[in-house]
Amino acid sequence: MEMGYVWMRRVGVAGANSTLLSKPSMAALFSPAYQKPFSFSYVKTSLYLVSLVPLRRRWLSATASCSPVPPINLDENCSDFDSDCTTFSRKGSKVVLKGMTYSELEKWVQSHGYRPGQAMMLWKRLYGNNIWAHHSDELEGLNKDFKKMLSENADFKALSLKETRTASDGTRKILFTLDDGLVIETVVIPCDRGRTTVCVSSQVGCAMNCQFCYTGRMGLMRHLTAAEIVEQAAFARRLLTSEVGPITNVVFMGMGEPLHNIDNVIKAADIMVHDRGLHFSPRKVTVSTSGLVPQLRRFLHESNCALAVSLNATTDEVRNWIMPINRKYKLDLLLQTLREELRFKHNYKVLFEYVMLEGVNDSDDDSKRLVDLVRGIPCKINLISFNPHSGSLFRPTKKERIIEFRNTLAEAGCTVFLRLSRGDDQMAACGQLGKPGTIRAPLLRVPEQFQMAVASSS
Ligand code: SF4
Repeated sequence: MEMGYVWMRRVGVAGANSTLLSKPSMAALFSPAYQKPFSFSYVKTSLYLVSLVPLRRRWLSATASCSPVPPINLDENCSDFDSDCTTFSRKGSKVVLKGMTYSELEKWVQSHGYRPGQAMMLWKRLYGNNIWAHHSDELEGLNKDFKKMLSENADFKALSLKETRTASDGTRKILFTLDDGLVIETVVIPCDRGRTTVCVSSQVGCAMNCQFCYTGRMGLMRHLTAAEIVEQAAFARRLLTSEVGPITNVVFMGMGEPLHNIDNVIKAADIMVHDRGLHFSPRKVTVSTSGLVPQLRRFLHESNCALAVSLNATTDEVRNWIMPINRKYKLDLLLQTLREELRFKHNYKVLFEYVMLEGVNDSDDDSKRLVDLVRGIPCKINLISFNPHSGSLFRPTKKERIIEFRNTLAEAGCTVFLRLSRGDDQMAACGQLGKPGTIRAPLLRVPEQFQMAVASSS
């Protein structure tokens, strides 16, 4: 696996034990084509998530024929703490504090002979009181022996700061180095109305291979741990609160499909909303998905944080192309699941995201179909201007067309917003994060009727 420089970006989930797509047959595995490292020839025969053991990079690919081969299990989650409370995520001999929920921290502190009250004092210094401690020296007011025990047994930081960049509109991109040398990206987006949002990543790269997304070209390198996710928000507060004011919102829209890493994402979101810690309102923590249906259902049952669904098309034909996960979980199934699940959530609206791609998903028919598709689902719709990146096939829809599209939705009674592009001069905008290497996820065959739209954009 390349261990080089990797950036990240956001958007889209499968339960821990779920399966996504089918893998190559045994015969195919032993064929010369399969054994050739990173030849793309093997992706031509079936619909599957690539599993290259030595290279560890995965993505969703698709072609016309789907051979009946066994499913691949994506259960690779590495939770920071096991359920019987005996093992914690470790860095060398030290335990990683940011990977623990409050009750886990309390048990760990007690297991070292200290009182639960000291766990709360530590928790507040990790996440609250404008401290966001990175070292035992920053634990003012804590008992000396307790601090000594922490310095010997605990690690306070899950990420190392690599660099920050500021875009002309004030958006900050923060690059963090992980322990294994990979680099991830977090974006902080200040807004005039007293709201500042931190956009966190959940994976290094992404397996979903959405055709309009730069991160998708990287393939999946690995999941982030809960500690690495929580630390992005805590670190952003520590670094930027004095400059940009309080960070009030979190969106899981950085690199990766959050629900593909659902265990760690749900845990990280729980830590973020704890009322004596980072204390984000659950309604202001939004987890986005490309549409992994079983995981989406689980998320709605287990978390009270907000959900965004990246929709981006009104027909299976277009969605199969631009979001290959749709070949597994079709539009009908996705929307019907939301319709059913949201009946049991009080005062809860899902946010649909719709990236506008000229000539692909922005027609009058699309706007009318979209109204029909979301009927009966408590929702808001965000229309997002496409942010081009190197090698992208698509062009952004013109502003006037976006407004017409918005008007059709609004006139039909939908709650609809336009999301402006932020940070694009630093490649910090939606869909622009990451840095694909020389080996990239494959671009899929363009359906015939869209070949003109795509050709005119290149
Ligand atoms: S490939 Fe799709 S799911 Fe993955 S980060 Fe990009 S838009 Fe999100």
